[in-house]
Formats: sequence, C-alpha cells, structure tokens
Amino acid sequence: MKFVNQMTIRFDSLSINEGFARSAVAAFCVQLNPTLDEVTDIKTAVSEAVTNCVVHAYPDKVGEIEIWVGLTHDTIYIEVRDCGVGIPDFEKAREPFFTTKPTEERAGMGFTVMESFMDDLQLSSNGNKGVTVKMTKHLEGKLRAVAGGADGRL
Ligand code: ATP
Ligand code: MG
Repeated sequence: MKFVNQMTIRFDSLSINEGFARSAVAAFCVQLNPTLDEVTDIKTAVSEAVTNCVVHAYPDKVGEIEIWVGLTHDTIYIEVRDCGVGIPDFEKAREPFFTTKPTEERAGMGFTVMESFMDDLQLSSNGNKGVTVKMTKHLEGKLRAVAGGADGRL
C-alpha cells in the first residue's frame, strides 16, 4: 500500500488522552477534505478503540497506546495498538452486547460502533501481547496536495 501521508502518536492509557487521540486523528485526516459526518464517525471509532485500551487492555496500570494513521488519496487507515492483556476470542469480543465488564456499565457495543462507523474493522494479536485494531474508511472528499511543498500542508 502506498500512502501519501502517515503519522504515529504514542501516549499513556489515561482517559484524559481519549480526547487528545480522537482530535489528533481528526486533525490529521482533514487533509483528505472529509465531510463533517465522516470526521465525526472517525472520532467516535478512535474514541471507542482508545477507551478499550484504557479500560480493558490495562485494567490495573497505565500502559502505552500507539495510534498509526495512513492516508491514501481517498482512504484513511487507522491502527490502534496496545500491549495489554489481549483478547482470547476475537469473534466473541466483536459480538454486540458482549462485555467482560457488565458491572461497570459497559454496554458491549464498542466494536459494533466501530464496525458501523468505519468500512472495515480487523482485530489481531500484537505479538503475544495486546491487541491491534485496524480500521479503514473511504472518504468522499478529494485529497488536497500533500506530497511535498508547504502549500498543501494544513
Ligand atoms: P462499551 O464499549 O460498550 O463500553 P465494552 O468495552 O465491554 O463496552 P467492546 O468495546 O465491544 O465493549 O469490547 C468487547 C470486549 O472486548 C470488552 O468487554 C473486553 O473484554 C474486550 N476488549 C476490547 N478491547 C480490548 C483491548 N484493547 N484489550 C483487551 N480486551 C479488550
Ligand atoms: Mg468498549
């Protein structure tokens, strides 16, 4: 896959960083000229993925979360990685209303929300530790010039 632009951010699994993470990804994808609805969808999906890292991946400690974003001329690729406890059964975890924390008012709808707001969602093990959530969304907007030169930069 040839990306016209990429970025990576890494931050602590503190819930205060959820807002930072979704805003950072939204700001980065603005160069694809997305609609407001598309930005809202992306922010919501990133929020859900990061919340999962904070709540589930590192339940008793602060760990590291990494987000990579890659852009082609019309599609955003997002990977949210943690090195936490991992998910034993991906299929089960993706089922609507499945949660391992029912007592903490979790609805078990995070992956369902990510799936519905993005075009594609894949889960994989991050080596033998943690989870990588890969999401893709096609954007209708047209790419502003990003390759070389300051004129296309936002
Ligand atoms: P909600 O997102 O509605 O608050 P939830 O987080 O339990 O509830 P999902 O986001 O769909 O629901 O996640 C389903 C289950 O998958 C979680 O209950 C948890 O067991 C597991 N899970 C999700 N993300 C991770 C992760 N990064 N590391 C470990 N387990 C995870
Ligand atoms: Mg969740």
